[in-house]
Amino acid sequence: MDDYKGMLIVISGPSGVGKSTICKALIEKELRNVELSISATTRRPRVGEVDSVNYYFKDEHVFKEMIYQNEFLEYAKVYGNYYGTPKQKVIDKLDNGISVILEIDTYGAMQVKKNFKKGVFIFIMPPCFNILKNRIINRGTESKDDIRKRLKSAFKEITEVSNYDYIVINDDIDKAVNKIVCILNAESCRTDRYQIDFTEFKEEFYD
Ligand code: 5GP
Repeated sequence: MDDYKGMLIVISGPSGVGKSTICKALIEKELRNVELSISATTRRPRVGEVDSVNYYFKDEHVFKEMIYQNEFLEYAKVYGNYYGTPKQKVIDKLDNGISVILEIDTYGAMQVKKNFKKGVFIFIMPPCFNILKNRIINRGTESKDDIRKRLKSAFKEITEVSNYDYIVINDDIDKAVNKIVCILNAESCRTDRYQIDFTEFKEEFYD
């Protein structure tokens, strides 16, 4: 089920590590045939977030119906809200040679890993835990209770890093983005992504 023309790229990391900023910067680089998947969520929109741009914002009963209809490639309950990757949109892109970035939590990433052996799994790490803590507190978008939940799960998420193919430390956005571009370039050259037809070569050499 994994032989698509596009690559499936999974980016995870604890809350506040800068995943969204990195993904946005990657998209702004206008890499050829690379797009960001838009997830569905039951979380309320934050100030400035737009439906169908940042997320597809859904009521819980609609989200649950989507689960029932098998419309998600993966889904998870993160910090008390549901988040999921719409399956068909991603598959259509991969089929058409477009690589798709999923910015998802570690639980969702492991669901994806089961079905996409050729997926590229990248974990974004903070330079240190204190910096992460300050980023979560200072961005001011979450309630106190939410901040507590995010800090608690940050440590747990970091312990799952060994399930990923690559670690990128986000001490500087430009450097982190450039590292990911290098990873994607190298991944696109892997032998197992090519299906070489040797008959053409055989004819050239033996005839
Ligand atoms: P936020 O509420 O800050 O936008 O996202 C909270 C967490 O949910 C982040 O760790 C983010 O990566 C994760 N997330 C966003 N979309 C999805 C998704 O479609 N599936 C899963 N499993 N996690 C997601």
